[in-house]
Amino acid sequence: MIQVRGLHKAFGEQQVLGGIGLELPKGKVLVIIGPSGSGKTTLLRCLNLLEIPDQGSLRIGGVSLQFQSGARPSAREVLSLRKQTGMVFQSFNLFPHMTALGNVVEAQVTVQKKSKAEARRRALELLEKVGLADKARSYPHNLSGGQQQRVAIARAMALDPEVLLFDEPTSALDPELVGEVLKVIKQLASEGMTMVIVTHLMKFAAEVADQVVLMDKGVIVEEGTPEEVFQHPKSERAVQFLNMLA
Ligand code: ATP
Repeated sequence: MIQVRGLHKAFGEQQVLGGIGLELPKGKVLVIIGPSGSGKTTLLRCLNLLEIPDQGSLRIGGVSLQFQSGARPSAREVLSLRKQTGMVFQSFNLFPHMTALGNVVEAQVTVQKKSKAEARRRALELLEKVGLADKARSYPHNLSGGQQQRVAIARAMALDPEVLLFDEPTSALDPELVGEVLKVIKQLASEGMTMVIVTHLMKFAAEVADQVVLMDKGVIVEEGTPEEVFQHPKSERAVQFLNMLA
């Protein structure tokens, strides 16, 4: 499960997160929507400490951290929280010099200290799960964007994280490749994987989410089930945002 309390983050003078609170039970999917610049990516990056929050607290799985202005968490704290999260980026970020299999094996050997044989077995299972067992020996430059993103999902799952974090996972893809990635994410949702997904795809959000939050200017302006947020928004800002998309 994930618990976020009073999370603040500024870049210089610019306050980007102004006190975010969230709770997501294990096995559920949270989708974050909102206009460009509202802080969605920054919030996601705070969840695995790619950005260090200025204030507030985070709890993911069994790891709890408190943040106070200026104090960075220790390397050990950062690592323990990162182990709870797997991140899937907009632009895949695969290691270009490694095969699909190598990409999924790597952290299992370096972080989890698994044997190569065991890590390869698990990697093949995961590549099979994302429909890419036959591409295990291919290098990223020989894979389509959709295939690369599916390898990235397998890689993010390789350390058995408590939660998978997706930052606009289809926005760098050609339209015809979006569906294959969404299908994998929906399958993971149906299997009970806890996930936080930032997306601009409202139809997908409505289909996959248990909870939706709408952010604007660094705060949550609307939250609830997809039906509550999309069909019966309460705040003026949510109505405006959703009308703009219609
Ligand atoms: P988009 O939908 O366009 O990706 P977003 O809602 O994900 O937007 P963020 O990427 O979190 O928004 O950015 C929120 C604000 O923080 C923006 O004004 C952005 O310019 C600023 N920002 C983000 N990262 C940094 C950084 N590393 N340094 C300085 N400013 C940053």
